[in-house]
Amino acid sequence: MMNYSRNTKKRFNKLLLPGSLAVIIGILVIVSCSAIDEPLPETVAEGASVEITEHIKQTTASTAISTEPVTEIVSLGEYKLTAYCGCPKCCGKWGENRPFDENGKPIVYTANQSIAEEGVTIATDINVLPYGTAVIIDGHKYIVQDRGGSIAGNKIDIYFESHQAALEFGVQHKEVFIEREVKNND
Ligand SMILES: [Zn+2]
Repeated sequence: MMNYSRNTKKRFNKLLLPGSLAVIIGILVIVSCSAIDEPLPETVAEGASVEITEHIKQTTASTAISTEPVTEIVSLGEYKLTAYCGCPKCCGKWGENRPFDENGKPIVYTANQSIAEEGVTIATDINVLPYGTAVIIDGHKYIVQDRGGSIAGNKIDIYFESHQAALEFGVQHKEVFIEREVKNND
C-alpha cells in the first residue's frame, strides 16, 4: 500500500494538472485504491464499480468540468391546469376504439405517438411548450407528449389513467416551471 501511494504521488507531479481536475483524479485514485486494497468476491466487486461510476458522475457535475448538459429551472408563472384521461368524454373521437394491452387496459397513444402515462404525460399548446419539454408542477416533472384543441396559451392538461381521478383534479391554477438545458455555463 505504501509503495502504491508513492507511485500515485509521482504521477501527480508529472502531470501538473489544474487543481480541480487533480482533486477529481485524486479522489478517483483513492477510490480505486480502496477497491484494490481489499479484493472482493466477484458480485460485490461489481457493486463497488457501480459506486465508483456514481462517484465520478457526482464529482464531475459539482466541478462543472463535465461536458454533460447542465440544466436550470425557469418559472413560467401561473398556468391553468386541467386533467383528462383517455376516454371518449375527455378525448372525443380519439378516445374511441383504443387498443388494449395484455392486461385488458386501453393503450392511450398521445399526439406525439407516446403511450400516455399517469405522472408523466401532459398536453400543452405545443407552440408554447413543444413536445419533450420537461415541465415541473408541485415539484414533480412531467413531459409534454400531447396536445388538445382547447389547450392554448398558458394551459396544461394533465393525463390521468382514470376518468374519476381526472374529475377529482378539477381545475387548478399553479405556478409551473420548465427544466431547460443551459447552453453556456461559464
Ligand atoms: Zn375521461
